[in-house]
Amino acid sequence: MRDSLIIPAGFFLLGLVIGSFLNMLIFRLPRSDYSPLKPRRSVCPVCNHELSWKDNIPLLSFVFLMGKCRYCKKAISPRYFIVELLTSASFLANSVLFRPSLAAMASLIVSGLILVSFIDLEHLLIPDSGIVVIGIGALGWSILTDSFPRVLLEAALVFGVMLVFFLVANRFRSDSFGFGDVELLGVLAVATGVIGTLFTVMIGSIVALGVYVTAMKLQGKKVSRETRIPFGPFLALAGYITLLLLPAIRSLYGL
Ligand SMILES: [Zn+2]
Repeated sequence: MRDSLIIPAGFFLLGLVIGSFLNMLIFRLPRSDYSPLKPRRSVCPVCNHELSWKDNIPLLSFVFLMGKCRYCKKAISPRYFIVELLTSASFLANSVLFRPSLAAMASLIVSGLILVSFIDLEHLLIPDSGIVVIGIGALGWSILTDSFPRVLLEAALVFGVMLVFFLVANRFRSDSFGFGDVELLGVLAVATGVIGTLFTVMIGSIVALGVYVTAMKLQGKKVSRETRIPFGPFLALAGYITLLLLPAIRSLYGL
């Protein structure tokens, strides 16, 4: 293997392993069923049969088993495949776009974003552990890009503004904007700063609106104010896009 391929290949493989770990956390964290001190064998969530190593190979097991449990033949959630694919693909992209130390921080941020997004999609809540992982990655990112400690002030500003927005929005309609979204934007700002946050909110809102309207059209319903959709996954996606575009955004604004 050529030297230049070793690092991207390593990041891709690491992404597969981390993606598989994230799947376990996405299932267990909201059920308060995870303890790092007590590792357990994974089981089929339907029939509880213990899974062997060959049922647990990232991406490949899902394809070979055609999305069904080997033992009870019930469908496995496509989430397992999607999470592993997203994690490994983004780790690979990070290693191609950034130097290894920066790619490691971007990958830590992505891991937290994926964790937060998929738990929010299913349970409409953003776990603190995901926020902490994103925060550690963002702190490392800002130190490596020499925007530390200035960016901490920017993050505090973002957090303050979003908190006011959160309080005002919830006076008009409760649950319109979750506190988890405030925390998510706050920690992302440690990496992306104020300008990055504006891009994140803008991209996230446009994508969310597009998906919302399309989903409503497909279901043949009018857009209802009562339908609850989690905003976290859109902010997470937009945050990652912003991170990738950050060098371009910074040079555009002469920062
Ligand atoms: Zn099963």
